Amino acid sequence: MTTPARPANRHHKRPRGEGQWALGYREPLNKNEENKKNDDGLNVRQRIIDIYAKRGFDSIDPADLRGRFRWYGLYTQRRPGIDGGKTAILEPEELDDRYFMLRVRIDGGQLTVEQLRVIADISTTYARGTADITDRQNIQLHWVEIESVPEIWERLEAVGLHTTEACGDTPRVIIGCPLAGIAADEVIDATPQLREIRDRYIGDPAFSNLPRKYKTAISGCTAHCTVHEINDVAFVGVELADGTKGFDLWVGGGLSTNPMLAKRLNVFVRPEQVAEVWAGVTSIFRDYGYRRLRHRARLKFLVNDWGTEKFRDVLEKEYLGYPLPDGPAPAPPRNGRRDHVGVFPQRDGNFYVGFAPRVGRMSGELLHAVADIAERHGSDRVRTTTEQKMVILDVAPDRVDSLVAELEAHDLQVKPSTFRRQTMACTGIEYCKLAIVETKKLASELIDELERRLPDFDVPLSINVNGCPNSCARIQVADIGLKGQLVMDDNGEQVEGFQIHLGGSIGVSSGFGRKVRGLKTTAAELPDYIERVVRNYDAQRKDGETFAE
Ligand code: SF4
Repeated sequence: MTTPARPANRHHKRPRGEGQWALGYREPLNKNEENKKNDDGLNVRQRIIDIYAKRGFDSIDPADLRGRFRWYGLYTQRRPGIDGGKTAILEPEELDDRYFMLRVRIDGGQLTVEQLRVIADISTTYARGTADITDRQNIQLHWVEIESVPEIWERLEAVGLHTTEACGDTPRVIIGCPLAGIAADEVIDATPQLREIRDRYIGDPAFSNLPRKYKTAISGCTAHCTVHEINDVAFVGVELADGTKGFDLWVGGGLSTNPMLAKRLNVFVRPEQVAEVWAGVTSIFRDYGYRRLRHRARLKFLVNDWGTEKFRDVLEKEYLGYPLPDGPAPAPPRNGRRDHVGVFPQRDGNFYVGFAPRVGRMSGELLHAVADIAERHGSDRVRTTTEQKMVILDVAPDRVDSLVAELEAHDLQVKPSTFRRQTMACTGIEYCKLAIVETKKLASELIDELERRLPDFDVPLSINVNGCPNSCARIQVADIGLKGQLVMDDNGEQVEGFQIHLGGSIGVSSGFGRKVRGLKTTAAELPDYIERVVRNYDAQRKDGETFAE
């Protein structure tokens, strides 16, 4: 299929001035749009190789540094020592460190042992040993210097990995089920569709200037582990009454400051149509997405204004040129946990083993250890999950116990407590320029403290710690969502703390947590607060009742 053509100026009614290309707003209406028009983000790659890596940090054009670098997964880190109170008042250049975060995209979370080793080597050689697994299956490295970037790319590309469009107004990493192709109960293996989209469209200039970031999920997993409800576009495996397998299409999900759950278009997409339909939805976003205001530029605002009927109509008539049949909704997820942690049978008789590092924090050394352990136990396939966890596939039954023991010796727990298993944390003030509070260390200490205070608590309960309102670690869909902000302590001093959201969920009864008005806690009082909430819940819950209920 060729990339869908941009339609001529159509007459969809829109409030004036939303900056939609298809309605004739081709003049950039803000600084970001102007930068993208001046030069495509993808073009910065050659400048990094030819100029910036050779001449150093000070040679970098500011429009590249704070704009186009993202098209290759590069963000400047936060300068150490700047507290959260300064985040909103300092100029971007005052917050910039001379080092970068580099995001390696891992579509579908799929890695071979060799690929994992290359990332581990890059971490120890160029990134001071840092490596964080994100909740979108990427691995992020820190402390990267511009001089190292071309060599890092060479090493990644030699094993089929890259950082292209890992950030920026682009199609970001494509989320997929870590167990695609091996789970005994999956509806359909979505790996071919995921790879087709990646290979055909990532790095394609037709989609390198979208109004905003664009998140894709594709899976046929019965646990719905790709959190399709909060992606811009998602394909979820379904089966028709006659046994035909395909996908249900969802559009317009996203969290951040105006959270919205994705909506079904009620269509059935055959496996061979997925890439084409993805390109159609992405083209709608490119052409009709709101470019005037950054905070209204995500696809969810367009879907919300148009409604699903119109969206489907435009997709079929203007972009695909054919109607899609109606289709069924996916079956509800099979249980409350979507993380694949533990030991489970594959359909080929082997086992997969999912394990929980602390809030996604790994290191080059630990990644090496995981690669060695997997290899020693006969596996060549490792996965990252959307809950900051990892999974080793293809372990023979008689090798499972030894593998589990070796992982646990590295504190990579296969049978973690609820708190270790379901606490996530975003990057936070350690490296993120938007952060107001620290997150990773706090969350790690919180896990220890809750395990000590509540050793027998073992029902599902998610705690998501975020360093600011941007919700990278999904504030609104956690049982206990924490949004970093400065709060007053008892002495009237401004200190790090959190606004609390309670009772969010995704799955059978998707919904956003309630922001409990006025309910804030200081970071220091967080363990006491969560302990009280958990004890109350545990005392009052009926059998099988979830926190959100
Ligand atoms: Fe940074 Fe805020 Fe996202 Fe955390 S939620 S990584 S602090 S932007």
